Amino acid sequence: MANTATDEGFLLALLNSTPVVDGVPADDLADPARARAWLASAGGLGTEAELQHVLRVRQALQAVLRGEQPPDVLAPELQDVASIPAMTDGQVTWTISVPPERVLAVRAVLAWDALARHSPGRLRPCANDECRLFLIDRSKANAARWCSMAVCGNRMKARRHYQRARNTPAE
Ligand SMILES: [Zn+2]
Repeated sequence: MANTATDEGFLLALLNSTPVVDGVPADDLADPARARAWLASAGGLGTEAELQHVLRVRQALQAVLRGEQPPDVLAPELQDVASIPAMTDGQVTWTISVPPERVLAVRAVLAWDALARHSPGRLRPCANDECRLFLIDRSKANAARWCSMAVCGNRMKARRHYQRARNTPAE
């Protein structure tokens, strides 16, 4: 199958293509021309049909990771997908057999599944409930809570500090 690290990067980039910008939910793939360029840069075709599959899988994966939907909602993305083995340089390699416009969407689901198996719970939403980003925690302690310590980590710390200061009566 394709490069695992690359697929994780693609999965995270896809999940994080709906950020909150200046307090307003945004969608990096809302503009069709920009979205097609984004798909092409991720190794896709950059077609409208591909975009529809990718948008659908993004919504499903985000809902699953936020605990809003069971993983079964991903089943349609895997329908009629086959994995074909071949012998290459003395090793068995696997190639996904699926219509080209569905490859990126299937890659996203397979990357999510690989992470869930090998690193359960490591891919998760940022703990800042006003942030819509996701993170992959690769630390030994597996205690990361923020998509970015610099952004959400410091913001949440500042908020807790402010609330503590406000709730503590002056002495
Ligand atoms: Zn965040």
